[in-house]
Amino acid sequence: MSKSEHDQKNDKKHDEKQSKQQKHQQRQQRLKEKVDARIANAVDDKGLVLVITGNGKGKSTSGFGTIARAVGHGLTAAVAQFIKGTWDCGERNLLEMHAVEFSVMATGFTWETQNKEQDTLAAQATWQDAKRFLQDTDLDVVLLDEITYMVTYGYIDLEEVITAINNRPVHQHLIITGRACHRQLIELADTVSEVQSIKHAFDNGIKAQKGIDW
Ligand code: ATP
Ligand code: MG
Repeated sequence: MSKSEHDQKNDKKHDEKQSKQQKHQQRQQRLKEKVDARIANAVDDKGLVLVITGNGKGKSTSGFGTIARAVGHGLTAAVAQFIKGTWDCGERNLLEMHAVEFSVMATGFTWETQNKEQDTLAAQATWQDAKRFLQDTDLDVVLLDEITYMVTYGYIDLEEVITAINNRPVHQHLIITGRACHRQLIELADTVSEVQSIKHAFDNGIKAQKGIDW
C-alpha cells in the first residue's frame, strides 16, 4: 500500500532535518579540525604585551580584570596608573589587599590640571615606578593604565617606553590601556583590542556610577 500524502510530507521533512543536521555536523567538524590545528601550533610560552585601546568603555576594567585573573592563579602583579581620577579606585582597594603594588600619578585628569610642567613631573614620577616594575623579575604581570596619553602628550619619551618594554623579564606579561595608542606600541604588542563605543550612559546625562565607572 502506498504511503499517504501526509506521511510522505513527514518523511521529506525528516530527511531535510537529517541532512541539515549532517551538514551542521560536518561544518563543526571542519571548524574543530582548524581550531585543533591552531592549538597544536601554539606552543610558545612567553610574556605578552597586550594593548587595550579605543574610545569605548572597558579598557581599564579589562586590564584590571586580567590582573585579578592572574592574582587568582597566584601570579604576582603591579599597577601603574597614569591618570588618577578624583574618586578612589575600587580595583585598587581590592587588589592592594592581595599584595598588588600600585603607583598612582599624584595629579588628577590632565584636562583638569592644565599645567604641563606639573603633569610632566607627575608622569615622570609614576614612570620611574613603572620602569622599576618592568625590571622586576619577581613580577609576572604589569598593568600600565592610561600610559598611552603620557606618550601622546610627550610627558614620557616613546623610545624610553619601548626600550623598557623590550628589556623586561621574558616571562613578564604587560598590559597597556588608554585611547589613541601610539602606532609603534601597537606594532610591538602581541595582542591588541580596540574597544568601540556604541553608546554610553553619560551621553544621556547619567553620572559616573560607583562600582561601574570607578
Ligand atoms: P573603564 O575604566 O570603565 O574600563 P575605560 O578605561 O575604557 O573605562 P577611560 O577613557 O579610561 O575608559 O575613561 C574612564 C571613565 O570614563 C570611566 O568612568 C568610563 O565609564 C568613562 N567613559 C569611558 N568611555 C566613555 C565614553 N565613550 N563616553 C563617556 N564616558 C566614558
Ligand atoms: Mg581607562
